[in-house]
Amino acid sequence: MNEHNTLTIENCIEWLDDRIDRWSQYVDKQCSVRIFQAIRSRLEENQIMRKLLWANHGCPQSAMYGDDGEMQCNACGFDFKRGGMKAFAEKRALENLKRYQEYLRKGDAGE
Ligand SMILES: [Zn+2]
Repeated sequence: MNEHNTLTIENCIEWLDDRIDRWSQYVDKQCSVRIFQAIRSRLEENQIMRKLLWANHGCPQSAMYGDDGEMQCNACGFDFKRGGMKAFAEKRALENLKRYQEYLRKGDAGE
C-alpha cells in the first residue's frame, strides 16, 4: 500500500516477487513460475498502457502531474496510476456524448 492507501500495480509486482519462492514449496515449481511470469508480464503491460494513456488522453500536457512516479491529470482529475480504467472509459464516453449533444443543439440553432 502507499500513502493513498490503494493497491497499485507496483504493489502487486512487489507482492508477487516476494511470494514466488513460497508458492514453489506448495505447487509444481515450473507451473508456478510460468503462472507468475504470465501475471507479472500482464501487470507490466498494464503499466505501459496506463503511461501511454496518461500521456496521450487529450488533456493539455501542462495539466499532467508525473512527479515521483505519479500519473495524474489536473484537467480531468483522473489518477492513471490507481484509477479504474472502466471508470475512465465510462467518464470519457459520457463526455463525448455531451459534446455530441452540444454539437447537435448548435446545429439545430443554425450556428
Ligand atoms: Zn486529463
